[in-house]
Amino acid sequence: MSEQTQARGDSARRVVVVGAGMAGVQTAVALREQGFTGSVTLIGAEPHQPYDRPPLSKAVLLGKAEGSAFDIDFKALEIELRLGREVVGLRPEDHELDTVEGPVRYDVLVLATGAEPIRLPGAEGVPGVHLLRTLDDAERLRPVLAQQHDIVVVGAGWIGAEFATAAREAGCAVTVVEAADRPLAGALPAEVAAPMTGWYADSGAELRTHARVERIEPGAVVLDDGSRVPADAVVVGIGARPATAWLTGSGIALGIHGEVLADEHLRTSVPDVYAVGDCASFPSGRYEERLLVHHWDNALQGPRTVAANIIGETPVAYDPVPYFWSEQFGRFVQYVGHHASADTTVWRGDPQGAAWTVCWLRSGRLVALLAVGRPRDLAQGRRLIESGTLMDRTLLADPSLPLKEATA
Ligand SMILES: Cc1cc2nc3c(=O)[nH]c(=O)nc-3n(C[C@H](O)[C@H](O)[C@H](O)COP(=O)(O)OP(=O)(O)OC[C@H]3O[C@@H](n4cnc5c(N)ncnc54)[C@H](O)[C@@H]3O)c2cc1C
Repeated sequence: MSEQTQARGDSARRVVVVGAGMAGVQTAVALREQGFTGSVTLIGAEPHQPYDRPPLSKAVLLGKAEGSAFDIDFKALEIELRLGREVVGLRPEDHELDTVEGPVRYDVLVLATGAEPIRLPGAEGVPGVHLLRTLDDAERLRPVLAQQHDIVVVGAGWIGAEFATAAREAGCAVTVVEAADRPLAGALPAEVAAPMTGWYADSGAELRTHARVERIEPGAVVLDDGSRVPADAVVVGIGARPATAWLTGSGIALGIHGEVLADEHLRTSVPDVYAVGDCASFPSGRYEERLLVHHWDNALQGPRTVAANIIGETPVAYDPVPYFWSEQFGRFVQYVGHHASADTTVWRGDPQGAAWTVCWLRSGRLVALLAVGRPRDLAQGRRLIESGTLMDRTLLADPSLPLKEATA
């Protein structure tokens, strides 16, 4: 019987969540918070108690925090944890998952397997080459930082910048090699990323753009222009892709990045199966395009919609204003919205200074905002984006005026 036709609130219903990261854990918790009385099983491949990832590239890496386990009493919430178990297949026709320990039945399934880092071709298994996605990765990197090695970071994205920040703080010599002409090339327009280029040098890290890795040798990274950069350790931060290879052949529709193609209710193409977090994209009504969001807030908000749709009669649409933050080079960077369709950019403050904001407008309304050291702009901007308020461009450009007073 399909979940849609089954009696709601049925305490005999069994929800199984695959992936015990932020999105999986939050789905299980949201089900209980919203009154679900059936059984909830959370299956995760990692052996550790479920933990939060953002501290891995910050406090955990520097040894300022031992770990980042979620402070959740799973037992009290009657959430069954099955950790250290990889799910290897899905057979929707039988409502069953395959794990190495055998099959697991579900009435409703939630896919929350997150993302895995993209590997550098040829660097697989090379000693001294690291990724930064898991607690195990962070624990392997901690002594590397403590030894104050020469470190090469491949990729000047969010993870690369945060790792470079920690490595400089630990006293390592850091070179960041980036194939594009600037940091964050995939995420931000050139004019916005331009002031961030200087942050690397200010921190004492060297940023080399237009630099492609040719190969990694013992003690060095060789670039495609023939130059050799000394490297006792290499950290690869060139992006992540949805961890969905195990779904191949299951009938779950996947997109070109391997992401689960969820609908606006976070349902997949297969009945009784939902998807949420880094592993899934969804159609944004607000931005009129499909979004694949690899940020923490999406793994917090999406699960509430999934839980509501598992429990409730009337389907709830997921249409968030995306949000994320990054802590890099002593700065707190926050972004809210989605700027792809913007027609106007307005700066608040001097981008060479310590605190500034970029606002993106479409037809006079705020659609996205990036704030560096201006959390109040972020908080107010988020509300203005949600409400679709018309803004006054001249007032908006005055950083001394609260953002919420810059309306037309
Ligand atoms: C180092 C780091 C720093 C970050 N910092 C920030 C930040 O500052 N701000 C921000 O907004 N975002 C940040 N993020 C992103 C944020 O952490 C992610 O968006 C979030 O963790 C996504 O949650 P998720 O549950 O969808 O996926 P994940 O956290 O990837 O969890 C998925 C889990 O599923 C498990 N899994 C995968 N396949 C299977 C399988 N077949 N069977 C069983 N289990 C499986 C995985 O082992 C994993 O534990 C950071 C990410 C990293 C890696």
